[in-house]
Amino acid sequence: MHRRFFKSFNFLLIVILALNVTLAQQPAPTNAPSLERLRAHIEFLASDKLEGRRTGSPGANIAAEYIAREFSRYGLRRSIGRDLAGMSILEADSPRRYMQEFPYVAGVELGKGNELTFRLIANPESKAVPLKTDASFAMKAGEDWMPLGFSTNGQIKNAPAVLVGYGITAADLKYDDYVHANAAGKIAIAFSGTPDGDNPHGQFARYEDVRWKAIAARNAGAEALIVIASESTFKDDRLSRLHYDNSGGDAGLPVIAISRQAAAQLLSANSSMLALEEQRLRAQQSKSSSATAEQAPTLPLQTVLITLSTDVLRREVSAWNVVGILDGSDPSLKNETIVIGAHYDHLGRGGEGSLAPKEGDIHHGADDNASGVAGVIELVRIFSERPRPRRTIVFIAFSGEEEGLLGSNYYVNHPIVPLSNTVAMINMDMIGRMKDNKLIVGGVGTAAEWRSIVEAQNLVQGMAVTAGAGTERTSQSTGLPMVIASNGRSIVTSDAAKQFQLTLNEDGYGPSDHSSFYAKQVPVLFFWTGSHEDYHKPSDTADKINYEDEARILGLVARVVRDLDNNDKHPAYTVAKSEASGRSMGFRVYLGTIPNYADSSDGLLLDGVREDSPAAKAGIKAGDKIVMLGGRDVRNVYDYTAALGEMKAGQEYEVELLRAGERIKLKITPAARK
Ligand SMILES: [Zn+2]
Repeated sequence: MHRRFFKSFNFLLIVILALNVTLAQQPAPTNAPSLERLRAHIEFLASDKLEGRRTGSPGANIAAEYIAREFSRYGLRRSIGRDLAGMSILEADSPRRYMQEFPYVAGVELGKGNELTFRLIANPESKAVPLKTDASFAMKAGEDWMPLGFSTNGQIKNAPAVLVGYGITAADLKYDDYVHANAAGKIAIAFSGTPDGDNPHGQFARYEDVRWKAIAARNAGAEALIVIASESTFKDDRLSRLHYDNSGGDAGLPVIAISRQAAAQLLSANSSMLALEEQRLRAQQSKSSSATAEQAPTLPLQTVLITLSTDVLRREVSAWNVVGILDGSDPSLKNETIVIGAHYDHLGRGGEGSLAPKEGDIHHGADDNASGVAGVIELVRIFSERPRPRRTIVFIAFSGEEEGLLGSNYYVNHPIVPLSNTVAMINMDMIGRMKDNKLIVGGVGTAAEWRSIVEAQNLVQGMAVTAGAGTERTSQSTGLPMVIASNGRSIVTSDAAKQFQLTLNEDGYGPSDHSSFYAKQVPVLFFWTGSHEDYHKPSDTADKINYEDEARILGLVARVVRDLDNNDKHPAYTVAKSEASGRSMGFRVYLGTIPNYADSSDGLLLDGVREDSPAAKAGIKAGDKIVMLGGRDVRNVYDYTAALGEMKAGQEYEVELLRAGERIKLKITPAARK
């Protein structure tokens, strides 16, 4: 006997024993996923009408309403508010009652309270400033200067200013613009860019981000940070365009950009100061781009006092998760919940997150993630028919995923059903582009049972069951006869070609909403068919969806859910080995941290540290909050991920963290992923 055949034969017997009850009781699986229904949902959600479903946009809201109506059609219980007797039909039916609202900043605008005034004071000690009288200049917000989107709103009156070069503190490069600046209590004024000039691959490139400069200024005790634009025409400068990234929170101090003309005026107290400073920086650049370039002391602007008020209006709009509940049929198991989710938001007409060369075209998001939402709706239909699952199923269509898992983060911090009763979360994100039968399932390391359930149900994928079907013989031309009844007839056949080629990833973290649940110790499974050339582009359209295979995937998901629901014991949460799936996530290095993925804007909180990992060896502990890693400012999990992406195995880096209110610096050496 062929070894593989033998192996799978044994395995199949075990599977059949395990599944016996299910198969016997449901000889005819009636409610199979419907290809045509999937097509209808995806074609609507990915249509031009919905304009790419950007979170907070009318198109996203139409999608939310569509999903809520589908939930209502299949009789899901409304999650928000109770179904009270005597409530008017209209109110009781309102799709709003499936909506879980969460805060979302759709844009930022200039408020009315922006003010920037330079007061030049005649300084008797300064011979270089032949000012006869005091002078003051008012700068116009939006023309001469602009607060940045993540600036804190604040007021500072008559503060002294100090030039701080590029405003960079790079511990790993032994470079600190603040070392001689004495910026405490002052307004720091920095140039755009880095000592590397325009080199995007220079060693300082990663310090160019103003968010990072803001952290350095705050750490140096500055009251505010002013960045001098690099473009000679202010409105051409990237920093002059007010925008907000929705992930990092505010900077913790006012941060503004000023035009080069305004800067020249500000520095007119010493007309050549700007030129001098630029000369100095240029000299420093050309001398070497090496980290050890010595620091010339920066020149204090003792004769300038700055009054600054920043007023950035964050335009909050409504964003919604759509949540519907299917109550369990078992009197006691119904207290346990399985969450089945997919995000419905996408990228609108491009911009942030898009891979299209230009903005403006509708990003249809058929695969990402109308496919997953259609899957959720189909599973609502299937599970709302009999037999009903014994456990309660909470169906959630998330929003804000593309902006950084905002909706699912909100849900896990404001769950409709307590997370302590949530025994599993099943996520589907991009399940519409199956190729060559390849299916990726993430999170199999997050519960002890996952691997065997998924593998067994995949085997069933290719099975034909003829038990109880009389004398009929199953075709064996392609299938392998696997179980022979005592009368010599095969009762189960399995066709390997119908099974999926699974790639099982251990890790419960990944670039989608299941991460939010795994961070809260909920076992997760994540189904997806992989990336493709239309990913995050307008060309991700409904006509390219592989509907037939998506229906098959949903068949697998449904059986996995039935299988776990058939077991009286709920899946046992386990901490997944994240290194096993490292390759698929594209990271080369491994630290062994277990991040908490909840909302954060001031660092990355760690839920734990794996034993014997680089993080453990560095002395990092559960409860620590990482604020810098490898010279990267870390305010949230995205910064952390970005920093991780830049690190090399075997090289020592500095990690800075907050522990019990204290800032601690440690050395960490990442290991290579296996
Ligand atoms: Zn996406």
